[in-house]
Amino acid sequence: MAQTFDVQLESLTGKRSVRVLGPPNGKSFYIETFGCQMNVHDSEKVAGVLLGRGYRQVDAPEAADLVFYNTCSIREKAAQKVFSRLGRFKSAQSGNKVIGVLGCVAQQEGEQIFERAPWVSLVCGSASYRKLPQLLAQLEAGNRRVTGLGLDTDETFETDFTRRDNPFRAYLTIIEGCDKSCAYCVVPYTRGPERSRTSAAILEEVRQLVELGYTEVQLLGQNVNSYRDPSPRRMSFAELLVAVAQVPGIRRVRFTTSHPRDFHREIVQAIDAFPALCDHVHLPVQSGSTEVLRRMRRNYTREEYLAKIDCIRSARRPISITTDIIVAFPGETEKDFEGTLSLLDTVQYDSLFSFKYSPRPNTAALHLDGAIPESEQGRRLTILQERQRQIQTARNAALLDRTFEVLVDTRHQRDGQWAGRTTSNRVLNFSSPLQDLLGEYVQVRVTGAGPNSLVGEHVI
Ligand code: SAM
Ligand code: SF4
Repeated sequence: MAQTFDVQLESLTGKRSVRVLGPPNGKSFYIETFGCQMNVHDSEKVAGVLLGRGYRQVDAPEAADLVFYNTCSIREKAAQKVFSRLGRFKSAQSGNKVIGVLGCVAQQEGEQIFERAPWVSLVCGSASYRKLPQLLAQLEAGNRRVTGLGLDTDETFETDFTRRDNPFRAYLTIIEGCDKSCAYCVVPYTRGPERSRTSAAILEEVRQLVELGYTEVQLLGQNVNSYRDPSPRRMSFAELLVAVAQVPGIRRVRFTTSHPRDFHREIVQAIDAFPALCDHVHLPVQSGSTEVLRRMRRNYTREEYLAKIDCIRSARRPISITTDIIVAFPGETEKDFEGTLSLLDTVQYDSLFSFKYSPRPNTAALHLDGAIPESEQGRRLTILQERQRQIQTARNAALLDRTFEVLVDTRHQRDGQWAGRTTSNRVLNFSSPLQDLLGEYVQVRVTGAGPNSLVGEHVI
């Protein structure tokens, strides 16, 4: 039986000590992550696998024997970043460093990465992470190039140990991959088909997180609400939310991302019934024009989306709503764009992520006419962001004098202020006469509001 070793993670996860398998092997690794929360959490799991094999984590690539880049290819700019990182190692070609490319760019570019950067030794897409221990073993045995690029999988990436970066909010995958086929999106191609974890495995991990001291969890998936429990319990997503919210010790449950098509009333009912389910739904709309939504293959109309918003707004407690928008999708007319602006006015989002359309390999939108020039893309993005800024300014100003519970996650060294998030995921910076508030739930009265955050004072 393998021996167990203590790994002190104080700098990473507060004062938590975790037992992992594997003796120290004298080697170190560095991992840099690009992209979404799913990628951040994948890197936490990859780090767990490496720690479990006896590697030590360092925070500079120069100091590492093994350098991993966990990449994003959702937009072209994100994908380009990794090649500029890889370029740094060109002159170290003959060195002993092992360089690995993980994630979406790995899946998309495959073995071509070896041609572009011959000093890379490992290329592994996220659908093959389960094979990482074998790939690492092959590298350790002296193989110069190893790949994990299969997409045809019904397995999820399970780890004995996950090394979490955030000491206050624990990410937790419930579903991997995507079975939708939005015309602009590379994810189904880079992350493979949908695979859900069993509800028992998820709930067991939540209980372990509570034992480690976490009170807030965030359930992750490209479309969390497409969750299908593969076990005979057959829990729906809403039932899973309720079960997680009822785990003793859990005070906050977040989930992202929800797809409008699969967003049902039961989710709102669950939020209404269980206060541990946070007052926040991220529901990406992408466009306010039914015609653009049709060409994007989103499978809902503007009206159907607005009906889901009405359902969320009908909840007994106010639920904050955020979204993603793509501007200048091929063929988007001025009138379509006006439709998106009017949707912002109607919905009154609390925040949004906005992007210019970026053509991606292997996607259906590549074949659409009506490409929009860069300057016009930029103009639309600026207008959209300014409109949203006004909405957020007004919505946050309406919160003046209200008191919210905040989970404190930051101490600003500069001015001694604290910061944390409300259940609706707003950032609240505040002053307090008390010390040692990190990780505490405190009441804060709002005394100031900007478009992106609130200011307040601790109510003692
Ligand atoms: N599954 C989620 C959904 O359906 O809403 C979204 C996941 S995707 C990783 C995050 C966001 O990236 C999308 O909501 C979309 O706004 C944006 N995105 C995806 N592909 C894009 C592209 N080709 N160009 C610009 N933005 C894109
Ligand atoms: Fe991409 Fe659409 Fe799947 Fe979201 S639902 S990951 S946007 S294909």
